[in-house]
Amino acid sequence: MRWASGKKGNSELMLKIDMHVHTWYSDSTASVDEVLEAARFKGLDGVAITDHNTVVGALEAERKRGDLIVIPGEEVSTLHGEIIALGVRSVIPKGLPVTEAIRRVHSQGGFVVVPHPTVPFIGTFGEKIIRRLPVDGIEVFSAITPFPGYHFKKNLRLARSLGLPMLAGSDSHFPETVGDAYTIVYSEGPSVEEILDAVRRGRTKVGCRPSSWTFKVRMLRGFFASLPWALLKRRPVPL
Ligand SMILES: [Zn+2]
Repeated sequence: MRWASGKKGNSELMLKIDMHVHTWYSDSTASVDEVLEAARFKGLDGVAITDHNTVVGALEAERKRGDLIVIPGEEVSTLHGEIIALGVRSVIPKGLPVTEAIRRVHSQGGFVVVPHPTVPFIGTFGEKIIRRLPVDGIEVFSAITPFPGYHFKKNLRLARSLGLPMLAGSDSHFPETVGDAYTIVYSEGPSVEEILDAVRRGRTKVGCRPSSWTFKVRMLRGFFASLPWALLKRRPVPL
């Protein structure tokens, strides 16, 4: 954590936060303790815990965070695709229409990010739909996707054309990949509210490198196993 000079000459914290991390409360091999230890080892200031359809790991991480920042969150499987909710402490149930899930995140004061928005078949809505949803930010870099550089360009274009804040995260499902990508947030303070406020104002940059193929291959195996079911479940978004 270090101070930087802000736009108006005031001091701002420059925080490195991995905005997309899973624990073993969903489908990661990493315990909460391992995630926090890995975050410290990688020199992060904090992590957002975004398990699939549960906040149990996020709340445990908040209790155990010590000197780290923990943004509680959830990766919500909606009827139409996945969204990331940041700053929520009550679970948003899976299977809701996406517009209702977004409404529930906002009613908790949370921030909605579209994860891996241009990677086909992994719970994304497609650009046309994203443009019409009341989302708050775009994950422009996801370290675990197979070709993050290619999608980075497309995601940047999408975020810029929508005028939405840009975030990056590792989408880590292993202790080793925590911090492979992170968001640099220029925040007036270290609280979750101050950080999300800074993100809302677009005070972010992204830091990224792809995760190793060793881990990508392990993720891809699970992806191919679930693909037929994911395709069967696809529903058009009623907009
Ligand atoms: Zn994820």
